[in-house]
Amino acid sequence: KRNVLIIGAGGVAQVVAHKCAQYNDVLGNIHIASRTVEKCQQIVDSVQEKGSLKTAGDLQAHALDALDIEATKALISKTQSQMVINVGSPFINMSVLQACIETGAAYMDTAIHEDPDKICENPPWYANYEWKRKQLCADNGITAILGVGFDPGMVNTYAAAAVKEDYFDRVESIDIIDINAGNHGHYFATNFDPEINFREFTGRVWSWQNNAWVKNKMFEVKRTDDLPVVGMQTSYMTGHDEIHSLSHHLDVPNVRFWMGFGEHYINVFNVLNSLGLLSEQPVTTAEGLEVVPLKVVKAILPDPASLAPNYTGKTCIGDVVKGQKDGKDKEIFIYNISDHEAAYEEVGSQGISYTAGVPPVAAAILIATGEWDVSRMVNVEELPHRPFINLLNDMGMPTRIKDEHGDRPLSF
Ligand code: NDP
Repeated sequence: KRNVLIIGAGGVAQVVAHKCAQYNDVLGNIHIASRTVEKCQQIVDSVQEKGSLKTAGDLQAHALDALDIEATKALISKTQSQMVINVGSPFINMSVLQACIETGAAYMDTAIHEDPDKICENPPWYANYEWKRKQLCADNGITAILGVGFDPGMVNTYAAAAVKEDYFDRVESIDIIDINAGNHGHYFATNFDPEINFREFTGRVWSWQNNAWVKNKMFEVKRTDDLPVVGMQTSYMTGHDEIHSLSHHLDVPNVRFWMGFGEHYINVFNVLNSLGLLSEQPVTTAEGLEVVPLKVVKAILPDPASLAPNYTGKTCIGDVVKGQKDGKDKEIFIYNISDHEAAYEEVGSQGISYTAGVPPVAAAILIATGEWDVSRMVNVEELPHRPFINLLNDMGMPTRIKDEHGDRPLSF
């Protein structure tokens, strides 16, 4: 398969575009589309300024409302894109997926579909939306790779590696830990779309424990770990996409997700939330103006993409996996360290966008070469983990493992 249509023009799309350009000898022509063509054009310009294109080839910006399935199909056909990387808002997943099914293009995304009116639906979340199209994908031979960013994405691969390689006889728990030890220098900002970011924390926290769904409140359960490079870090049990597929596909009784937050972030979040400023329900002001509080908060916070130039520090994201080997308890940590400044230097984005944007391009390369062109809908843990980890080692997203033998690079 060749030629990539990138949908979305945010921080993640910027990384995807630069990385696709670096591998356009394999991927072919690159097209970027969102509702605001100027944002797409800015990405095209930045790729050209950095000279990221490996060989001569098309790199074009387009205006597209991806909720319009017919328009999306027309753009896929016009650009002869055989692969679509959807890094737009998660509200557009189902319509982009449908356009891919109807045109035969391979589909990739980095987050579960969300309905703007619904907060924190019942688990497993994939069953509410994407998995309903599983049969349709299989019937039409469509390769659809769901959640192939970092988390979800790489961490699913790490879980698959932990279970399928020879590390354990039995895996007891997978705890995914996401630490951003970076500093953006603002009083308060979110690293990606505030609307999506806050929605992760305002609902119930679902986790998979003892083979059952467990419900908690945000910031109710925490842990502290001494992690490589970023040191001692406190993280909080958080609801997250990958739990909803890993619990289904891997026979592991405990799958949890933990996100690191500083006290300052939690304080500000609690104030906003307690005041009702994170609500997606409209309110009417005394002047008769109808506003959605969450949209107002989003409008006054820094644009996540604008954080990139001054972001310093590192991220550490990985899977703590516990189980038994040869009758003994064992623990490993499979992880990646990314650097905000290095990401900005390479592709003009901050580290969070970088970690989310590189894996879908690796997935596209593996579809292009056939290794991951599976002609059905899959989550990342269902795919061979070795080529993905190896390829990402070469693409600026190296994996490491820490176990009883020490802390070292992981490749196969
Ligand atoms: P942004 O909010 O910066 O960008 C979203 C983009 O979607 C915007 O450029 C917007 O452009 C576009 N968009 C929204 N609606 C439409 C539409 N109807 N048609 C076409 N384009 C549309 O988000 P990020 O770049 O930070 O994140 C992108 C995705 O990646 C999100 O789904 C996010 O959840 C996910 N993510 C995944 C991570 C992972 O590790 N798995 C980590 C971080 C993010 P316009 O307004 O011009 O249409």
